[in-house]
This record gives sequence, C-alpha cells and structure tokens, in this order.
Amino acid sequence: MLPAQQAEALILDLVQPLDHLRDVETLDLLSAQGRILAAAVSGALDFPHWDNSAMDGYAVRYADVKTCSAEQPVTLDIIEEIPAGYQPQQTIQPGQTARILTGSMMPTGADTIVIQEETQREGDRVTLFAAPKPGAFVRHRAEFYQAGSPLLPPGIRLSAAEIAVLATAQTVQVPVYRRPRVAILSTGSELVSSEQTLQPGQIVDSNQYALAALVASTGAEPICLGIVPDQPEALSRTIAQAIATADLVISSGGVSVGDYDYVDRILAELGAEIHVRAVAVKPGKPLTVATFQASGQNPELRRSVLYFGLPGNPVSALVTFWRFVQPALRKLSGLSSSWRPMFVKGRSRQELRSDGKRESYLWGQTHLIDGEYEFHLAGGSHSSGNLINLAQTNSLAMLPMGQTTRKAGEEIQIMLVNLPIV
Ligand code: AMP
Ligand code: MG
Repeated sequence: MLPAQQAEALILDLVQPLDHLRDVETLDLLSAQGRILAAAVSGALDFPHWDNSAMDGYAVRYADVKTCSAEQPVTLDIIEEIPAGYQPQQTIQPGQTARILTGSMMPTGADTIVIQEETQREGDRVTLFAAPKPGAFVRHRAEFYQAGSPLLPPGIRLSAAEIAVLATAQTVQVPVYRRPRVAILSTGSELVSSEQTLQPGQIVDSNQYALAALVASTGAEPICLGIVPDQPEALSRTIAQAIATADLVISSGGVSVGDYDYVDRILAELGAEIHVRAVAVKPGKPLTVATFQASGQNPELRRSVLYFGLPGNPVSALVTFWRFVQPALRKLSGLSSSWRPMFVKGRSRQELRSDGKRESYLWGQTHLIDGEYEFHLAGGSHSSGNLINLAQTNSLAMLPMGQTTRKAGEEIQIMLVNLPIV
C-alpha cells in the first residue's frame, strides 16, 4: 500500500501531457476562456501604443514651468484640444500648452502633464500655480510591454486577465490545447442508471454522473461509456474501446478484493502495466493506476493512456478523483504547473478522528473567517458509502497517517476542492 504522497508523485510522473504541436486547436478569443495556451504568444504592438497622458490636464514643456509657484505663476497659450482617440496636429513650442484628457496621445514638444486641479483657465490661456515633477503623469510608449518580447508563456490557463492581454495585443485567434478526452465507465452488475426503476438489490450508478461533472469541471471532455456488468468479456470489450478513444480512462468499482472484482485482471490481459494497486488513504484504499503504451498500428494512439480504476464507493470515487486523478488530468491537459491539489492550513471547528492507519480525509465546508481557514465537519456519518452528506463539500480535512485525533481549534491541513477553474 503506497503512501499518498508517493502515489501522487508516481502518478504525475506517468502522465504524458498533450502534444504542443499535434494536440492543438485554434480558437476565437471569445471561446478560449478556461482553455490552456499551447504556444508562447508575443505581440506586434507596444503597450502603451504611444506616449499618453495618465490624467486630465495640460501637456507642457517642463522647462517652461519648472520655476512656477503660487507667487510666480506661469501662463501658457492653449494651442490645441486633445481628446481621446485624436492625433495631435501641432508641436508644443516654448510658452505653449495643449489641453489633454486621460489616455490621450501626448503632443510632440511636451514632456510633462500638469493636472487640471492645479491650473486656472481663461479662454485660450491657462495659468499654473505649482511646478510639476519632470515627466509627471506621462505614460511612455512601450513602458509596460515592448513589441516582440514574450507576452504570455505556454501552459497557462486563459481567464479574464489573459484574455484582455491577448485582446490588447490583437491576438484574436489563439492556439490552445484541445480538451483531453476522458472515458468514464461504471462497473457493477448491481448498477442501474438514474432513469431506470430500481429493483430489489440494485444500486443507482451515481459515479458516472459525479465523475462526468468532475472531468468537465477540470476542463476535459467526458465520454460516458455507461454501466458494465461484472462480466470479464463485457469489461474487456468496454475497456478496450475506452483506451482506443480516450487520453485517460476512469472506471469505478471492481478494483477491490471481492469475488467479482475483475478490473485489474482484465487490465493485465489487455497489456496494461499496473503501477498502483492500493494507496494508504481513507476513503479510497483500492485504487488501481495503470498505463497502456502507445500502439504502433494506430497513429491516433501515439501516446500512452493512463487508466484509473477508482473504488466503487461513491465517496471514495470522488475523494480519489480529487486527490489523484485531477492533478494527473491537469498535467495531461497542458498546464505547465499548479497540478497538485490545493492544501491550506486551517483549524477545525470540531474534533476530528481517524484510525491513524491511513491518510484520512473528512469532508465538510471551509470558510475564510478573519483571514483564517475554518473547517466545519459535515454532519452525519463519514462512511465511504454515505454520499448524501457529501453535498456542498468544498474541502476535506486531512489527518496524516499515524494521527488519530485533532482537537477542535488545532491546526490542520485542508484540501480545497470544487475550486472554479482559474
Ligand atoms: P466495488 O468497489 O465494486 O466493490 O463497490 C463498492 C460499493 O460501491 C458497492 O456497494 C457498490 O454497489 C457501490 N458502487 C459501485 N459502483 C457504483 C456506482 N457507479 N455508483 C454508486 N455506487 C457504486
Ligand atoms: Mg463492484
């Protein structure tokens, strides 16, 4: 049984990210939200595009006004009005100024802005009562970005700020990684879909829905392959289909030590290399991680496919996804960093208990109160079969192996989940 940290490192090592040449599509900027940039972008325009004013005021020659004060005011001739979007037509000569508004282009000859509040205007003349600092309130061309230099690196997720940067650089067609395809199958002869009427002994397949939602919320495309009964032939057929079509496969159920747990055997028969069979986490101990090597015959399948056999218990399936699958999926999708789950330090409202034999996760809600993370344990049973009190979970308190209690108020590690894609 592998310790969780070791399993995490091993899994991340197995991931072959999407290819920066083959697995790329070009999207309109408006459709690129949440996607991962596949190539470095540089812009053809300086930013700011030209010298401009940061304030409403007057564009002056510093030499004209440097001695000015309340006792010795300076009066200048206004030769032009420069609203936003207008190209100044005149050069500012000694004794002259131009009225200028925020963001407007600096006229040649002027090098400094005097803010409106420190002036008094009468007709075409303006009087200044204080000397500005040389170059005050001028934003210089290329001060923030020089055309041709790197603008955005590959491997970052595109959110509002990056999209604004790309828009400013007039990059409206963006190379992004395609969404990873993730096949999802539920194994178990007892399972029926949510649409079917339940017969005695049957169980509704909630994992298919939960995993599809988790995959989509990680920015990947779920391919739902449905329920497969605990029959070796049916399992073999569906798993073969899954590895032929997907970048990553997730099954739930059938990886334990029960009489009908066939998944590991079938993976081996299909030629997989099995790297992990159990991880010391609770919930979630039976966790299979395997790889299928690239097949020479199928040019589409030019990379290895990662297979996760998650435990069937609904809570275990979600927890192992958050802890182990999601980081792998982030790396696979082309993100260059920030794959790991987000752990923060905080305190629990309630006492937390574990048997200490495995790294334990207890679900609940974390709130940021006065700058501190406070964890509230979900009420009810923390059995891995109790799916119901998992609703509204945004975090899991983690008790390391060997630790059996954490008193209320003691510092704990909290794994934040269900974070929006940023
Ligand atoms: P297994 O890992 O196959 O031994 O399943 C463990 C428990 O989880 C059993 O009670 C199953 O009925 C239940 N289970 C397995 N798969 C699912 C599923 N897709 N949705 C809901 N419960 C499941
Ligand atoms: Mg089963």
